[in-house]
Amino acid sequence: MTATLVKGGLVLDASRGDDAPLAADVLIDGTRIAAVLPRGEVRGDMAAVDVLDATDKLVVPGFFNAHYHSHDIFLKGCFEPTPLELWVLDALPRSYPPRSLEEIRLRTLLGAVECVRAGITTIQDMVTLFPLDRERVDAVVAAYEEAGVRVVLGLQVADVPPLDTTPYWRETIPPDMRDLLNGHPLDPALRRDPLDVIEESYLAHHAPGKRVRWAIAPSSPERCSPPLLERLRTLSERYALPVYSHVYISKSEALNARQRFATRGGSLIEFLDHCGLLNERLSLAHGVWLDDREVRRLADAKVSVVLNPISNLKAKNGVAPIRPLYEAGVNLALGCDNGSCTDAQNMFQAMKMYCLLAAVSDPRPGPPAAGDALRAATVNGARTAGLAGELGAVAPGMRADLVLLDLADPAFVPLNHAARQLVYSECGRAVETVIVDGRVVMEKRQIKTIREPRLRDAVNEAMERFRSDAEAVMAKTSRLRPFLLEADRRTWAHDLGFGRYIGRQ
Ligand SMILES: [Zn+2]
Repeated sequence: MTATLVKGGLVLDASRGDDAPLAADVLIDGTRIAAVLPRGEVRGDMAAVDVLDATDKLVVPGFFNAHYHSHDIFLKGCFEPTPLELWVLDALPRSYPPRSLEEIRLRTLLGAVECVRAGITTIQDMVTLFPLDRERVDAVVAAYEEAGVRVVLGLQVADVPPLDTTPYWRETIPPDMRDLLNGHPLDPALRRDPLDVIEESYLAHHAPGKRVRWAIAPSSPERCSPPLLERLRTLSERYALPVYSHVYISKSEALNARQRFATRGGSLIEFLDHCGLLNERLSLAHGVWLDDREVRRLADAKVSVVLNPISNLKAKNGVAPIRPLYEAGVNLALGCDNGSCTDAQNMFQAMKMYCLLAAVSDPRPGPPAAGDALRAATVNGARTAGLAGELGAVAPGMRADLVLLDLADPAFVPLNHAARQLVYSECGRAVETVIVDGRVVMEKRQIKTIREPRLRDAVNEAMERFRSDAEAVMAKTSRLRPFLLEADRRTWAHDLGFGRYIGRQ
């Protein structure tokens, strides 16, 4: 075990509820923070301690990208803003032929490097593997271990076909074109019970203190049958694992809930409660189309919501009820979501939009402020990862996940207010050094765990195959677009009694 002294920096830790930085040295012993003391006060035998000079650096807890999918990172830059239902088939792994283990390794590494470069030390990856098997899971785990980043891995599952979850698809898509929704054919011999794979993977890789951790990941309540949700709940209880799911990204999903879950008050939240999943282990991504009553239910049940402001805008979903969620006391974390639907794994974008987008529905002065955004990206994210008390703060006993930002960057000159400049001025440019579990994974902007030029070459090589497969998928799905658009038009005509777009329902 090595000890490292992060010396001479300004420590900004919003978990204390105060966003003023402290001039402090941070002593790391092995994987944990041993002491945080006023500058120059760390004493003892320093001969065996590595010193990391943090002069003119801002030291913050590593960020949590609390909602992410590594499976489509190769699709960044492929789409303009597009309604969710028109985009999703182009990004779904099952639309594509099964990917090679090497491609899975490369895309996982690439996403991890992008995250580290943006100060993200914990990635909460709801990855869809097609087919879901141990080889592919092992490839993802190995890549994250190679990258040296912390991950909570949720192997995403669903068993209800999209024709039954998207309003008007059954009416608008001609019967002879419906097989375009089915995805790539798969040899039945390759199909395994997804829950067996999830449990085996967990048992094979789980160990206390490991950087790779696990979550249970129903894709969304409406895309999972009650028996599947029951089995997932049992797994989450058996191993005390967090549960990650999408909810109410689009108006179409809210309308589907009103129609298909009428016996549960037309509410996916009531349905989740009925399935025994509405508790503090649950984190719901998006929540754009939650109504006021559902916001209160989530607060009462201590469910977390992971906001993804950039992907919601890219998929034309409107804006989540940020201020009502905040005022109800819901634990709010932040995510960057799909590579194809945000195009950037960047918590600075997410933090800034979290603060600014509250204006869409509420002109009053007030939260969320920069300190709230920092808490969302750190300590609140730790709660969604099942790591509350372990991560998200710079304090003795916490795991040593730290980010050093260069205060000489124009974003911080002059230094008027560290938290506000981190959230409103910084874009990721000043992230210089990243420590995960006491280990330096990026130093002076150099990734230490892998060779980035080699990764870039290998990705470019893999793209030759991937690009032609992606073009074939898009040619196929483009035939469905007029019908999907017509279904969307019919959905927009419904009045749900509230709206998430300015000036319209
Ligand atoms: Zn997502």
